[in-house]
Amino acid sequence: MSVQTNFGPVDNQKSKESLLRTLPYSSVQITDGFWASYQLINRVASLLHGFSMLEKAGNLKNLRIAAGIGTGEFAGYRFADSDVYKWLEAVAWELGRVPDGELAAMGDQAIALVEQAQEANGYLNSYYQVVKPDERWTDLDHGHELYCAGHLIQAAVAYKRALDDERLLDVSLKFVAHIDDVLVRSGREETCGHPEIEMGLVELYRLTGDERHLELAQIFIDRRGYNKMRGHAGYGAVYQQDHVPVREAVEVAGHAVRQLYLTTGVTDLYMERGEKALIQAMDRLWADMTQHKLYVTGGLGSRFDGEAFGGSYELPSDTGYCETCAAIASLMWNWRLLLITGDRRYADLFERTLFNAVLSSPGVEGKSYLYVNPLHVRSGRYVRASANTGTGEARLRPAWHNCACCPPNVMRLLSSLSHYMATANESGVQIHQYATAQFDVVVQGEPVQIAMESEYPWQGQITLTVNATPSSSWALSLRLPAWCRRHDLRLNGGTIDYQPGDNGYLTIERSWQVDDVVRLDLHMEPLFVAPHPRIDALRGCVSLQRGPLVYCFESHDQPDDVDLLDVAVVTSGALTETAVSVPNDSVAIQVTGQMLSPTWGEALYLPLDERPQTEARPVQLNAIPYFLWGNRGMKSMRIWVPSK
Ligand SMILES: [Zn+2]
Repeated sequence: MSVQTNFGPVDNQKSKESLLRTLPYSSVQITDGFWASYQLINRVASLLHGFSMLEKAGNLKNLRIAAGIGTGEFAGYRFADSDVYKWLEAVAWELGRVPDGELAAMGDQAIALVEQAQEANGYLNSYYQVVKPDERWTDLDHGHELYCAGHLIQAAVAYKRALDDERLLDVSLKFVAHIDDVLVRSGREETCGHPEIEMGLVELYRLTGDERHLELAQIFIDRRGYNKMRGHAGYGAVYQQDHVPVREAVEVAGHAVRQLYLTTGVTDLYMERGEKALIQAMDRLWADMTQHKLYVTGGLGSRFDGEAFGGSYELPSDTGYCETCAAIASLMWNWRLLLITGDRRYADLFERTLFNAVLSSPGVEGKSYLYVNPLHVRSGRYVRASANTGTGEARLRPAWHNCACCPPNVMRLLSSLSHYMATANESGVQIHQYATAQFDVVVQGEPVQIAMESEYPWQGQITLTVNATPSSSWALSLRLPAWCRRHDLRLNGGTIDYQPGDNGYLTIERSWQVDDVVRLDLHMEPLFVAPHPRIDALRGCVSLQRGPLVYCFESHDQPDDVDLLDVAVVTSGALTETAVSVPNDSVAIQVTGQMLSPTWGEALYLPLDERPQTEARPVQLNAIPYFLWGNRGMKSMRIWVPSK
């Protein structure tokens, strides 16, 4: 077996602060099942769709104009180039997984445009090149020039690691040298209004070994937090996390994607330099986020206004923003915190966020995406105005968005998903996410091969077969999800000696033999979930969960005379699982419910003693996995329902 050295999105082999080490990119292959079908749709539908949308929306044309080989008007936002870079990153990880001539040719076209658009001095941003050539680097608060550079770097890292292709890396190195000259060595002191380049620069350092790239990441992080930024549309410095130096921050605040890209970059910097004040701040922010500002789906950002985090317990279901990019940023942050600590809670939140807040974005056909992911939609009301949403209850997810940050973010996550499933270190292999997959890992210098099979997330049985192992002992660690109340673990059909660790993993350490079979059974009974009593928007309500999946009630699945605005669920009633196609095959849950007769009248408020008696009649309500809502036309949907 050859020693693999090309890693995925994060390479922490040399990080000072990491308990777990990421695996070479080709070490994990998702071979079948739930995630394999998502990766296939991403490949045969989404990535091709993305290329045509980048053409149609003008992103590629912008680069042609900047390169001097196209004509016309610049189209879209100032950060239009970043959509191209995220799509390119997705293409690289996909081609690294499975070669494809057509996709490779599309990637080559886009790379050629990026190369041609770059100026001799290294500058590259089609908006400023085409629209405001004299105003480069004059508006770092809103210009997004470093934000776009960060996405360029991530695409370059992906092409280098997945394909050993250095074209975008050459572009990136020239651009970073230019950025260094203009914004750092010149004596200027600003940083970008949208964090992103920080994590890009740390990863570039991990790839090149050039300390200057790490130093630049630290410089841009250290410059933030001194109330110099204006914020967008009057939101103030907090919108861009410039209200407090990151080492002093005590809460997640402002624009959610900006906040979470920043925390991811800061966590990367901690991993490399080990400065305790940074991880202490990250621990405070993570606690604030998960104890006060997290939706049950893993969604983040409760305000449309400013696309922002709200206050503690401000978690409305209907106007919740939950941008797809914020959820993906949360995955990236939690992945790094997991690498540092090995603590289950980060992998648990990764799983919750992935299956719910992220997976609700793409339509099942892979050519449409939600930008915001609310937990309650009233009939006919769509969740974010976009250029092409259509009207009425037949609305589907938009094929693209005028601000198209989310779709290519989903694409790059899905194509690189195998990166996030497992890690290794001196003691053995740790499996964090369950799927049908093949692991080819090196432990103590020797090859370890494991085949994992699972019907996850529909069933909780996971079977692992050891196909190659050294003779010395090593430890296999399996995450026991916090949602799981009952589990069985067996080795070769018999009882087994294992340690349920403080970190939330079940660890089996032994001298493994080829053909050893471990079977972990995570029992997945559906259950009701109650909200913290301080969340006013949810008081008196419950939601449904089965395994890692949050469920919702969609109007398509209810009796015709049931309005989801007037229902309650009876929590003492039975929860029955059934098979359903919505439109993909899925597990639905039948719940005993009540339809409350609308006797209230037109007044919104009445004296308490004039409140009419509500009549209730029994109905059966049907819940489906939240991530599948909206694939049959967007009518009504809700996750939280009053309980009886
Ligand atoms: Zn987005």
